[in-house]
Amino acid sequence: EYQIHINRIESNGSVIGAVILAFDITEAAFAERNRREFTANVSHELKTPLQSIMGSAELMENGLVKPEDMTRFVGHIRTEAGRLVTLIDDIIRLSRLDEKCDMPFENVDLYEVASDVMAGLADIAAAKDIEVTLTGGTVSVKSVRRLLAEIIFNLCDNAIKYNKNGGTVEVAISRQENNAVIAVKDSGIGIPPEHQARIFERFYRVDKSRSKESGGTGLGLSIVKHAVQYLNGKIDLQSSPRQGTMIQISFQEDKNDVVNV
Ligand code: ADP
Repeated sequence: EYQIHINRIESNGSVIGAVILAFDITEAAFAERNRREFTANVSHELKTPLQSIMGSAELMENGLVKPEDMTRFVGHIRTEAGRLVTLIDDIIRLSRLDEKCDMPFENVDLYEVASDVMAGLADIAAAKDIEVTLTGGTVSVKSVRRLLAEIIFNLCDNAIKYNKNGGTVEVAISRQENNAVIAVKDSGIGIPPEHQARIFERFYRVDKSRSKESGGTGLGLSIVKHAVQYLNGKIDLQSSPRQGTMIQISFQEDKNDVVNV
């Protein structure tokens, strides 16, 4: 997209030439469209649970809910309010990724970050009887610990959420040539090929109702994408429906050293 400005050059009242300036505004226009789309999406995502809360509250207020249904209605209100809290948390996490200046690169051990993050997910894995394993060993990288934790958390959380009861999640930390690699593999429902290119978009969900049921906001993988971009990493996805998914994040060592200079 270009913005064109034409200025005449005059001398003694007659036009002797023109200056034509063409500004490439592709990026600015894209950013603006992106921002507008994001705002529209956020409003929609916030309004849906709020309307549902208001609907239930109104029915209760007007005495239209039988006493035996009260607990169910209150439970529904609480679930929807919980959804709002998760959504707002995710939006804040995503917008924090834009405040890049306060994130210095430091020496981080990928294995240690993965181990910490996974400890925090033990309860939700146990609730679905999912066996979570971590393999590999110390892999030290120049990186941002908070972002690595964010990436590993979202990948493992999805690997558990979109898995079957009794399934497995394998996290492997390794160094391959001069790449530091995090691989998260699950035995879950998989992602149909036609959706694979889009799951990293904000608010994109393969199956809205299933994602909603498991508390998904559709923001997890876009947080991953932004964090990986910030760290100059690369994402690989392999998935087949009903067999499982493997997402691999690799960081080329010297690339981050360059950023850090
Ligand atoms: P959500 O909050 O809905 O989990 P994400 O951005 O983390 O949002 O993921 C986007 C969508 O990609 C999910 O709704 C789900 O349909 C799909 N997805 C993500 N990870 C997996 C996985 N490991 N297995 C199957 N589907 C997945």
